[in-house]
Amino acid sequence: SAFRQPIMAGNWKMNPETEEEALSLASEVAERLGAETCATGGDSVDESTCTEVVVFPPFPFISKVKDAVAGAGLVVGAQNFFYEDKGAFTGSVSASMVKSTGCEYVLCGHSERRTLFADSDSNINLKVKKTLDSGMKPILCIGETQEEFEIGIKKEVCATQLSKDLYGITKEQMKDVVIAYEPVWAIGTGLVCGAEDANEIHAYCREVLTNLFDEEVAQATRIQYGGSVKPDNVDDIMAMPDIDGCLVGGASLEGEGFARIVNFKR
Ligand code: PEP
Repeated sequence: SAFRQPIMAGNWKMNPETEEEALSLASEVAERLGAETCATGGDSVDESTCTEVVVFPPFPFISKVKDAVAGAGLVVGAQNFFYEDKGAFTGSVSASMVKSTGCEYVLCGHSERRTLFADSDSNINLKVKKTLDSGMKPILCIGETQEEFEIGIKKEVCATQLSKDLYGITKEQMKDVVIAYEPVWAIGTGLVCGAEDANEIHAYCREVLTNLFDEEVAQATRIQYGGSVKPDNVDDIMAMPDIDGCLVGGASLEGEGFARIVNFKR
């Protein structure tokens, strides 16, 4: 199977409270990026195999965080945007705006956007397309709720979200798409999906991608796990063959702990 470059991401959500705290959090992480991350400054870093590390600050902090940490090899992304190009959409920001502040990635379909802000699969599909058309890379979040988990339809939920959210995306564009499998019942709850159970869904998502695209796309697409990833469980999660990285919420707000996560032991 294809080698997939590891990608670790920190979703800060609506935190921290001030720009000063955001900059110190970003610097704490940047200072601790280990030899296997894509941190610059050493000839030892292999651009194609190093671990990509991305942080998703709230909009007002993106530019300054980018300026503060880009030199250290830390990448920034946006947690959201509105898919229209410009115009009378008070309170919204566009893809070109976040791109021009230095974002390389965008979270699409995060469960909090789906449930609290009514992001539908068709809107998420528009965002995935707009992200790619704007020269950025989407991290498409999928996963079952607690209720869906309990009634035993987690695979069906993931398959439906993948097919609707990736509708119309080409095989070529899939090179820039990252998937994050995030069982909603494991987000922010401290309940971790067992590494083997998560891996089984990741492998299943590759079957779905084979049906939607082809085997090559399925093997090349990076799939992150998200849901209560912490310094003490990351190594077991990253040991799984179909898990290519983690999307981290709560634990990305503590610099030293997040650094330990991105510098996971292989
Ligand atoms: C998330 O918000 O994507 C997430 C996985 O959160 P947490 O790590 O806090 O469960």
